[in-house]
Amino acid sequence: MGSSSASVPGSVIRTCVGCGVRAAKPDLLRVVAVDGDVVADPAARRPGRGAYVHPSLDCLERARRRRAIPRALRANGPLADDGLASYLADAAMARGPDDRSRPDRAVSEAGR
Ligand SMILES: [Zn+2]
Repeated sequence: MGSSSASVPGSVIRTCVGCGVRAAKPDLLRVVAVDGDVVADPAARRPGRGAYVHPSLDCLERARRRRAIPRALRANGPLADDGLASYLADAAMARGPDDRSRPDRAVSEAGR
């Protein structure tokens, strides 16, 4: 239910390969394949085909189950995403532990 009114003209929309939700490019993490590994590319500077995923282990897990990342990157074989997983774990850690203990934050409670 994309009822967020953040439709800034000119902003690039990408689809998360994990949950399939479309989001503005800055809200997603670009990943690329480098030598059979999935590598996070937060600066979006690496050459080649990129896939976009929310920077959360949840979305990575969903993408894994559907093998969505190798497919999005047109990889010939399986890709190792351990590096990406630890990158996301570090990022989650940096945000604080609250995020992990509450997997489903009630976003829609701010209604008036
Ligand atoms: Zn997602």
